[in-house]
Amino acid sequence: MADRDTATGALGLVQAYVNTVDLRDGPEQLADSNTLGGWLVANGLMAYVNTVDLRDGPEQLADSNTLGGWLVANGLMEAAEPVSKKDLEHAIAVREAIRGLIGAGSGAKVYPIDVATLNEAAVVSRLRARFGADGRSRLEPEARGVAGAMGKLVAALFTAMADEDWGRLKLCHDPACRWAFYDSSRNHSSRWCKMASCGNRQKARRFRERAKSGA
Ligand SMILES: [Zn+2]
Repeated sequence: MADRDTATGALGLVQAYVNTVDLRDGPEQLADSNTLGGWLVANGLMAYVNTVDLRDGPEQLADSNTLGGWLVANGLMEAAEPVSKKDLEHAIAVREAIRGLIGAGSGAKVYPIDVATLNEAAVVSRLRARFGADGRSRLEPEARGVAGAMGKLVAALFTAMADEDWGRLKLCHDPACRWAFYDSSRNHSSRWCKMASCGNRQKARRFRERAKSGA
């Protein structure tokens, strides 16, 4: 849709990254190095969850080739690893489970199917606790291919949940939209994604309600 004129895949990441500051009048979202780490983790998750526009398409992960391309472009998988139809089903189930838990983080119900899907993805990817040469801890999958890529996303979700800014990663409250967004408002009060479609819809609804109650 025209008012969601954002690039996809790796380009989308770069676009979103560049737009972490509004050069005209702020705010600077990456105020310090902790915010930067949190943003990068959250943004990888957002980019993945937003590979489909639930309101009216398109689905970026339409087949196993586009899934493979997206995962390679976003550094989650090596090029030339095979992607089956079953991998595609798994990847989309994981995406929707991540969407579910982002929603739960901002007040929606926790669905057992989402929890089960993510626990299974962690097991299948053989996610392990590791300590790197830099002395820092991380979760890393032993599996390769799509299973490994899903493990990296589950690890990113795990890390994001431990971040104090976890509550800022939200789903648009419009049930038809459920777009993932990072709430950078000062009091963390945003409920709708910034896409013109949702923002304007809400504005129009409030206007109609005010007009009705005033009449
Ligand atoms: Zn929305």
